[in-house]
Amino acid sequence: MKGPWIVDFDDFEDKNTGFELLLRLKKLESNFKATLFSIPMGVTLPTIEKVKEMGWLELAVHGWNHGHKECENWTKAWALQVLEGCEQAGFAKVFRAPHWATSQNLYEALLERGWVCADHPKNVSKQPRGLLSYVVDATPGAVHGHITYGGNALAANMEYYESLHGEFLFVSEYMERKSAAGKDETMTIHSTAEGNLPDPVTFSSKKVSRRGRKLVENKEE
Ligand SMILES: [Zn+2]
Repeated sequence: MKGPWIVDFDDFEDKNTGFELLLRLKKLESNFKATLFSIPMGVTLPTIEKVKEMGWLELAVHGWNHGHKECENWTKAWALQVLEGCEQAGFAKVFRAPHWATSQNLYEALLERGWVCADHPKNVSKQPRGLLSYVVDATPGAVHGHITYGGNALAANMEYYESLHGEFLFVSEYMERKSAAGKDETMTIHSTAEGNLPDPVTFSSKKVSRRGRKLVENKEE
């Protein structure tokens, strides 16, 4: 297939930017864009400013400090505080819970502040009505990986990413386009491709290797 590609990577922070490899991709394909799910506690304002200036990377939010399944235990008040703080800092209003571990408190806060939830197919049935939901496996052209860790890491799949050409969209742009088109099938998606995503609890090498295969499969589409 020929895009648009919606490429995202998890665990961005000051000490794990992936800039070198991302720049390589940008040089090869001037349309290249990616959404980076960031750990707010590990990202400083100068980094946020730098990414804004670059213009072809989007910083979304990935928990608060990436504690183990941290969002499961968040109160709604804390979730709202995190989201509000991240809005002020300049992050895109797109959230992915570390380890795919969401909670009703988190969902309610995301819904209330109009955020997109990048979620695992297995969680979709738990989402409240009206939540803006982005599910990689249910989105044509969507590719999910990590900057550094595991089998779906950027460094481990450069050849695949280098093969992507055409139009690229940030997750936020894709969602805007989708809502502008009046489509709302995100509310009823129950992907049958759940096995293609890393395990929601740990990104064990065994599970991640399945994503590696997905990358290869995508390449042939
Ligand atoms: Zn993560």
